[in-house]
Amino acid sequence: MEDVKRPLLSRRLDGLGTTIFTEMSARALATGSVNLGQGFPDTDGPASVAQRAIDAISNGEGNQYPPLPGVPPLRHAITRHQERFYGLAHDPDTEVLVTAGATEAIAAAIFALVEPGDEVIALEPFYDSYAANIAMAGGTRVGLTLRPPAFRPDLEELKGKITARTRLLLINTPHNPTGMVLTRAETEAIARIAIEHDLLVITDEVYEHLVYDVPHIPMATIAGMRERTVTISSGGKTFGFTGWKVGWVTGTPELVAAVRTAKQFLTFVASGPLQFAIADALDLPDAYYDEFAADLKAKRDLLSAGLAEIGFDVYPCDGTYFVTTDITSLGERDGIDFCLSLPDRAGVVAIPSAVFYDDKEAGRTQVRFAFCKRPEVLENALTRLAVLKR
Ligand code: PMP
Ligand code: GLN
Repeated sequence: MEDVKRPLLSRRLDGLGTTIFTEMSARALATGSVNLGQGFPDTDGPASVAQRAIDAISNGEGNQYPPLPGVPPLRHAITRHQERFYGLAHDPDTEVLVTAGATEAIAAAIFALVEPGDEVIALEPFYDSYAANIAMAGGTRVGLTLRPPAFRPDLEELKGKITARTRLLLINTPHNPTGMVLTRAETEAIARIAIEHDLLVITDEVYEHLVYDVPHIPMATIAGMRERTVTISSGGKTFGFTGWKVGWVTGTPELVAAVRTAKQFLTFVASGPLQFAIADALDLPDAYYDEFAADLKAKRDLLSAGLAEIGFDVYPCDGTYFVTTDITSLGERDGIDFCLSLPDRAGVVAIPSAVFYDDKEAGRTQVRFAFCKRPEVLENALTRLAVLKR
């Protein structure tokens, strides 16, 4: 008999490797580069929110296992937030679940809802954990490719991708990495398709407050969608505490119970004291949210203009922390090679968007830059990148 050694890593995880964010942040550290790769702000969120976390630890709030669905003040604050911004009412006991960041929420939702062999249609390029989680669930991912310059979804193409095996649509708006934000008309059209084909929708809305002069339209606000939508968000982006990993799910009691069933065997619970602080943060006045978005919009403009001046083709960005560029006009052909050499050539780290595509050709020349950094850091990166000028 042929001696075939069984590989150590299970086939479901084959090819997943190390995340691009881990790899590129390590490169940034090792080379002293300006890190415009991984999306995290270089200034922390509001001091009052940080103080609330310190107080919670001192007061013994959340130092022991919090309840599985999340601490009551946070669940209540999440329902107030959904009501205040979107007019969506939720029962904090049955329709809200606190998770270890949006990452766990996405994983738990996919594990709860996807059977082996089910097809999941996701906007491509997709955030890397989607592909991994669908693979872990034994599902098949089907990309609906967003194409430059506007990266708008082709809804006729979406209809054509639906088969008898399609179980759910995995939507992300505002969209990482492209910065595309679905319009109301697009959201309604996707909703009609979901309803017609009786599909579930998981919607990742972690950048819900990071929109620049366009509205964020939650899928669950569209008629007929609340019943079939798992909505996911997180305090990381909105409040500038990405390390805290406080995320949440809202939906019907049935959907939330399904996600909770998976979630209890992932982390069970996490971030006890930080949950109290994010509860306070959610109740910050509208001015906080407006100023945060205005600040990021100015940073988007600074980085986009500077990259264009150097010679990148810069695509429009209506939301998120990221701007996508094309490097062809710099005489470059491959974003992965470009990003691997960029720390040595220019002392800057960026993310090759190709890693978010199954169709690598579609994203070969796209490179993503994060602009959630102090203006002087963005200026420094631009000064360094000027060596690329032709
Ligand atoms: N979804 C998207 C689209 C993201 O960009 C990120 C991370 N930045 C996450 C989910 C993960 O969020 P969290 O850090 O709350 O786990
Ligand atoms: N979501 C962040 C990004 O897109 C990274 C989060 C992570 O490192 N997993 O850059």
